[in-house]
Amino acid sequence: MDVKELVAKMTLEEKAGMCSGSDFWHTQGVERLGIPKMMVTDGPHGLRKQNGEGDHLGLNDSVKAVCFPAGCATASSFDRDLIYTMGEALGEECQAENVGVILGPGANIKRSPLCGRNFEYFSEDPYLASEMAASQIKGVQSKNVGTSLKHFYANNQEHRRMTSSSVMDERTAREIYLAAFEGAVRQAKPWTVMCSYNRINGTYAAENEESLTDILRGEWGFDGFVVSDWGAVNDRVPDLIAGLDLEMPSSMGMGDKKIVEAVKNGELDEAVLDRAVERILDVLYRYEENRDKNAVFHYEEDHALARKIASECMVLLKNDGVLPLKEEEQAVFIGAFAEHPRYQGGGSSHINAWRVDSALEMAKEYPVVYEKGFDIKEDRIDETLLNRAVEAAKKAKTAVIFAGLPDAFESEGYDRKHMRLPDCQNRLIEAVCEVNENVVVILHNGSPVEMPWVSKVKGILEAYLGGQAVGSAVMDVLYGKVNPSGHLAETFPVKLQDNPSYLFYTGEGDKVEYREGVFVGYRYYDKKEMDVLFPFGHGLSYTTFSYSNMQLDKTAIKDTESVTVSVDVTNTGNVSGKEVVQLYVCPPAGEVIRPVKELKGFEKVALMPGETKTVTFTLGKRAFAYYDCDIKDFYVETGIYRIALGQSSRKLLVEKELKVEASAFKKVKLTLNTTFGDILKIPGAAEKIKELMAKTPFEGEKPEDDGNAEMMEMMMQYMPVRAMLSFGRGAFSQNDLENLLQDFEKMQES
Ligand code: BGC
Repeated sequence: MDVKELVAKMTLEEKAGMCSGSDFWHTQGVERLGIPKMMVTDGPHGLRKQNGEGDHLGLNDSVKAVCFPAGCATASSFDRDLIYTMGEALGEECQAENVGVILGPGANIKRSPLCGRNFEYFSEDPYLASEMAASQIKGVQSKNVGTSLKHFYANNQEHRRMTSSSVMDERTAREIYLAAFEGAVRQAKPWTVMCSYNRINGTYAAENEESLTDILRGEWGFDGFVVSDWGAVNDRVPDLIAGLDLEMPSSMGMGDKKIVEAVKNGELDEAVLDRAVERILDVLYRYEENRDKNAVFHYEEDHALARKIASECMVLLKNDGVLPLKEEEQAVFIGAFAEHPRYQGGGSSHINAWRVDSALEMAKEYPVVYEKGFDIKEDRIDETLLNRAVEAAKKAKTAVIFAGLPDAFESEGYDRKHMRLPDCQNRLIEAVCEVNENVVVILHNGSPVEMPWVSKVKGILEAYLGGQAVGSAVMDVLYGKVNPSGHLAETFPVKLQDNPSYLFYTGEGDKVEYREGVFVGYRYYDKKEMDVLFPFGHGLSYTTFSYSNMQLDKTAIKDTESVTVSVDVTNTGNVSGKEVVQLYVCPPAGEVIRPVKELKGFEKVALMPGETKTVTFTLGKRAFAYYDCDIKDFYVETGIYRIALGQSSRKLLVEKELKVEASAFKKVKLTLNTTFGDILKIPGAAEKIKELMAKTPFEGEKPEDDGNAEMMEMMMQYMPVRAMLSFGRGAFSQNDLENLLQDFEKMQES
């Protein structure tokens, strides 16, 4: 379809109408020109398609669909192919249900464990978040259905989400909060991006030209349309100019009217309107012209896929020889979540699940008894339920406690108030530990919880919000049919107060300052050498792996070149399993304050017992760079970088050094207040300074001992050029110094 031609045929009113939905879930059509409406719907881990008059708060039911594991779980798989497969299934379901764009994935950074929507998001690490988002996008879009990468950007809390301003410095934005989206946009080209509700440094995301146009399109090459989060439009005309193409839901004609008036009174260039309409139509026809009329919603198949994915996402946090359980073993399942698993979160991602597996139902062939232990609905210690559970635990070999956060504890729309499980569950776990020495805790939650009982239990399996098949997937892992291979995509701090955003979360009034800067998650805990409950990247297996023969194909590179890193990974245990090989880059101490290490690569590899495979990574400039606010670009400082490979951010097994050299010289800003230390960075400057010193009366005043020489050198280093006026004993005039600066400027130009 030639969309430009089509736009040329449209009236001003028709074009303005295209820039807002026709209702809650559809874009506008133009019957006269045969332009159909297109359905867009949530997302991200299943279809929440509301027929008829929708209401996005989920009060009206959506069609039955398959609820896949939420982002908190899928990120823990560290498995691009797996997430791609989930994307394919979602894409096919969309084709079957006539949905043109599925609203997700959400790539926002988990700044605090308290964010009510963490369960929908992937990680505290931007590289992992972006890679996971990219895989999901590629999978969905391979079926000719669009995605909406959301919520762009700096939407990291629910508190006052529609008015608060996320205040952060440019480096933090570039390295963390934008980076989470950048990789996904660059490699997967989502058809649409959804702007967030909040403001960024004072400007609403919906009218932030820098992010919506300069960065997203100009730098990253985005070529789809930008849609507002539902109700995120602040001021229709400025938003349109900034790059917000489609307003959702329908503005009921109000937005259209403003656009038409603005064009008529010359406030809005009609070309800006045309641009938005072209983008919307372009996406519409990507879908329309590639419709799969034969697509079918495969409920059974997709349920089986949801089960497989869930089992590969779960993270075995602790295992003191208690797992896997044996089928003939007497066990008691305790906790209401065994019967009614919590498998998804509340809000716009809430799926009307077609089927839900519970662990209990899956255990009916096993010698398993069940005790409810606590009530999910209220956090109240029910002594009768507790005592029954304790009595049953006394008789069983193993007690498996299904704990987690009830719906009301975490949801879209508000943040968590604390990081604890309900008190009644903590009390139950402690009580069971007193009578049974083989306690295993299964966790159903979308974000970290404190674990006061961590040393008393023998096993902990983090099931996250694992989708509708979580119950069967838990059983698969619990009884060893699937070897766990998930790893944490976020740090579990010992307590909430340890989290770097703790002092500033959720801000004051409508202002939330990101004062911890780039030190989010493990970047902070590592720098502070703090104890954590479970580190980023952690995850156990029923087998063991060893790493050997790590190699770099070069010992030194320029930052314009790349390096290949390889390592042999061997399954040294008795069962087959999957290992997540994590690659961290540790920068040298330099001018800029940087994290100790950052994740820059990961690969998941399946190994039979005794089998060895070589895992390879390629690292380019970005793996070594930080964002430099002076040059407004990523920059690599010359130095020796350590490249470390391992099983978690705190379990690095092999490492090697690599010299990386900056290819471009970063210019020094020269003023009378520039220090000689900084000027010395200019190639050739040292010689010039020596000549200069020869002219000063200092020459000949040789220090008495070496210590003094060093002291003088250090003092010189921090001396600004203007100090020569005070200390040069009249040898230099201000004019001389300004000429000198010009000489240095020429030196760095050349
Ligand atoms: C949410 C989005 C969602 C949209 C439509 C908003 O409130 O923030 O994530 O896609 O509603 O349901």
